[in-house]
Amino acid sequence: MEELRPLVSIVTPLFNEAENLDALGSRLGAVFEANKDVSWEWVAVDDGSSDGTALRLKDALVRAPRWQMIRFSRNFGQQAALRAGLASASGDAVIFLDADLQDPPEVIPELVVKWKAGAQVVFAARRSRGETFPRRLLITLFHSGFQILAGRIMPQDSGNFGLCDREVADILRKLPEHDAFLPALRAWTGFETATVEYDRAARLSGKGLSFSRLVGFAWNAVTAFSDAPLRLIFLSGLVISALSFTYGSVLLAQRILQFFGFFKDLEVLGFTTVAVAVFFMGGVQLLSIGIIGEYLARVYREVKGRPHFIVSKREAGDQRIP
Ligand code: UDP
Ligand code: MG
Repeated sequence: MEELRPLVSIVTPLFNEAENLDALGSRLGAVFEANKDVSWEWVAVDDGSSDGTALRLKDALVRAPRWQMIRFSRNFGQQAALRAGLASASGDAVIFLDADLQDPPEVIPELVVKWKAGAQVVFAARRSRGETFPRRLLITLFHSGFQILAGRIMPQDSGNFGLCDREVADILRKLPEHDAFLPALRAWTGFETATVEYDRAARLSGKGLSFSRLVGFAWNAVTAFSDAPLRLIFLSGLVISALSFTYGSVLLAQRILQFFGFFKDLEVLGFTTVAVAVFFMGGVQLLSIGIIGEYLARVYREVKGRPHFIVSKREAGDQRIP
């Protein structure tokens, strides 16, 4: 009977999560125990942690009927860790779960139910989130901006946490692009989706992405998914040109009319206009070059073709085969 149960893989990226491992292990372990209708695999990717996560990881992992541990040679970033997990996961469905317990493992069975009902991508959307105000503001700004720029590709307020079917997982793991934004790519594949709502907790312990990394992460997601910023440059050029042309025409008309005796007492006041115009255009141009530069850098990274991550150690265990 064993082999008839579908295998579901849980992929957790971990960067300095040593303090959360016990809680993560016991809460995931409870989910495995209570849901024997599927068989479980836990794929943990240690993204170059320096706090002893690697040493303590195995104690948590053995709670899973089947597990894999992948260790990176250094920190390659959360999305690279997810990608490595995805590449190794052998499940019929793959679930991404943050290791800091912001996304409750208890929601996992609900994802599996939707998957069994036919959805090939199941999003977990946050009803609420336990974050501090400035982070929440940035995150909300990012999600609304991303929805506009990338064209409502996934439910607002969903992130890494979610499930994808083997068919989708196989497509995702073959995508060659660097700095991919996997949560949105899951939706981009176009398969049938479903959404489960949940309340996002505060981080159990540890710091989480720093503010600047969060901004970098958001910007990476936008440039990975949308070339709208490039089009915005074109659009702003169009608007500025139209305004300049109109204003220029008015000035020219005035000047010509002066030859015919009109506007005789018009004072030539122009310094403010010129100064503002020069600074404004300088700013717009630098900003535009910056945006183009970001896309150029992406192309450069692709052309170099470096591996997305480097694995220094792998280990696997299967309780069913003693
Ligand atoms: N993470 C990772 N590599 C990193 C940063 C984070 O693997 O360089 C992991 C981290 O351990 C956690 C998940 O990615 O399991 C989400 O990270 P975090 O909680 O810092 O992000 P946030 O919740 O603020 O989006
Ligand atoms: Mg977190």
